[in-house]
Amino acid sequence: MLTCPNCANNNIKRYRNYEIPVPDDGQVFHLDRCPNCRLVFTSPKPRPELLARLYSDKGYYSYQKFHIPQDDQATSFKKRVKRWLKAAVIDHYYGYGKQNEDFKSNICQKMIGLAVKGLVKDDVVYGKRIITYVKNGKHLDIGCGSGGFVYWMSGKGWDSCGIELNREAVEIARELNLNVKESDLETAGYHENYFDLITAWEVLEHIPDLKQFLSEVRRILKPGGKFSGSVPNIVSWEALLFGKDWQPLEIPYHLYHFSPESLRSVLEGSGLKLERMEFLKITHSWDASLEKKYGQDSRLLPFLRLLGRTFYLLSNIFGYGARLKFVAVKQN
Ligand SMILES: [Zn+2]
Repeated sequence: MLTCPNCANNNIKRYRNYEIPVPDDGQVFHLDRCPNCRLVFTSPKPRPELLARLYSDKGYYSYQKFHIPQDDQATSFKKRVKRWLKAAVIDHYYGYGKQNEDFKSNICQKMIGLAVKGLVKDDVVYGKRIITYVKNGKHLDIGCGSGGFVYWMSGKGWDSCGIELNREAVEIARELNLNVKESDLETAGYHENYFDLITAWEVLEHIPDLKQFLSEVRRILKPGGKFSGSVPNIVSWEALLFGKDWQPLEIPYHLYHFSPESLRSVLEGSGLKLERMEFLKITHSWDASLEKKYGQDSRLLPFLRLLGRTFYLLSNIFGYGARLKFVAVKQN
């Protein structure tokens, strides 16, 4: 009998009737949904051998070497305004200026940072992954790929480390002297009450035993420590529009397909209180879904790509964005 991986309810219903075959394998997957906690999950549960074979593929995108941004030395008026706004968001609003001893907090710049933080480009605040600064804070990035976020956080004054299952990705990170080890969370064996911040970007949907994973996250977080990450949103307009061609379904890599409601249920069921949820400003899934639906050579593509920005803007405003970011806190 089918059981919900979150709440153990066994009255499970088929979701949207998709039939999704895995290339080179022949197995066909579909989606099921738990009416109790609303979690949607991939059925049947993919075999560990199949997942092991797929993950060992070097082409998986987060395993590539990340782009290291260079400090922008340009002095044109436009660039100076951009740098000032970036400092307002990162240094004043999120408090990263405090890593420098002579930093003076400026309330005016902080308010401007609050006002413009939704407008700045994703690369400025690392895909909006930024979290309020904690002096000498200990940070763990789970599923860190080749270490892009560990690199960024280390440069911003965090004591940052990462874990990753893909050996090639870990080697890339080590070449850059990043504190990254090849391990999953359960066997990494961190001390209890150790981290101020744990991040998991596009990770929760991949974890075979979600309950066990979140209980370990909770154990190694300090009381008051934060757990933040992102997941695709199955009830987004984008998911509805593209149906089974929606690229972030990524079956069978993705075992769960969260919505704001089911994400809250999963986190709070594990003793992590949801503090904030927002939609990320990321459009790559729009382009990838278009290619999947219409093929790479379609004449419609250039036109439809242009609609992407308007579409994500509207869907984010109305609360149906494609990518959810969450911040949850471990309570005492
Ligand atoms: Zn359930």
